[in-house]
Amino acid sequence: MAYVISDECIACGACAAECPVGAITEGDGKFEINADECLDCGACASACPVEAPKAE
Ligand code: SF4
Ligand code: SF4
Repeated sequence: MAYVISDECIACGACAAECPVGAITEGDGKFEINADECLDCGACASACPVEAPKAE
């Protein structure tokens, strides 16, 4: 399981700063989560102002 960032992302970077394993990087117009590194901790969802990270 991993979190996935939806198109609601406004590329603010708050989630990347909170991820304990550095699984979040800036992609093309939005941030992206590396599913192989994600621990499913939910910290990114808590940090996001628009609730873009979703548990899949
Ligand atoms: Fe990082 Fe946790 Fe979000 Fe996964 S759920 S991307 S480990 S902050
Ligand atoms: Fe996108 Fe939310 Fe992460 Fe900001 S905190 S970069 S809006 S997913």
